[in-house]
Amino acid sequence: MERDVTELLGTTDVELLSAGEVIDAALEHLPSVALACSFQKEESVLVDMLLEREPKARIFTLDTHVLFPESYELWRDLERRYGIRLEVYEGPSLGRQAATHGEALWERNPDLCCSIRKLAPLAAALQGLDGWITGVRRDQAPSRASTPKLGWDDRHELWKASPLADWSDDDVWAYLRERELPVNPLHARGYASIGCTHCTAPGTGRDGRWTGSSKTECGLHA
Ligand code: SF4
Repeated sequence: MERDVTELLGTTDVELLSAGEVIDAALEHLPSVALACSFQKEESVLVDMLLEREPKARIFTLDTHVLFPESYELWRDLERRYGIRLEVYEGPSLGRQAATHGEALWERNPDLCCSIRKLAPLAAALQGLDGWITGVRRDQAPSRASTPKLGWDDRHELWKASPLADWSDDDVWAYLRERELPVNPLHARGYASIGCTHCTAPGTGRDGRWTGSSKTECGLHA
């Protein structure tokens, strides 16, 4: 059932809120809220913004078991820097997936692979939450162009905040530099978007995701 953001914000125009104000609104109006962290530059910004406001804020990640070593390293860096532990949600081991569905499922049926390794863990992560916070930006892909800064997520049936929705790539980099934040080194090697090793190549926007196939999203956001 679609719900309107005025339920949370009254007459406040969510589009006029800054990224920090969107996080403030999420923390104020959503009793149980957590940030989804996928170790891209947007999450480096959001982890910093969120913990500055609420040091005990919940942050979770979906460990597909096939993330880049650089992403696992950034994970540990963030935990060390902020003195936190990320909540981890994960699919079956690679061995169990291979035993059930055969080897290299990501090559033969990436939708099923994403469903097992991303969507099912996400459903577990969102269980019991009133809302989640994501690093989605409108200019990342046409499928994300109408992302609201805060709105009802009909797909997952909870509120979803995307505080950086109207930020450009330059805005993100400026914040990272100003705050001297840790950032995934893969960005400097041409990866604008970072996912699993088997399905991510260098590229602009989300061009490097599932190259050579018509798949553009894993189903978490679109
Ligand atoms: S991005 Fe690739 S490896 Fe990762 S869950 Fe989806 S299909 Fe599997």
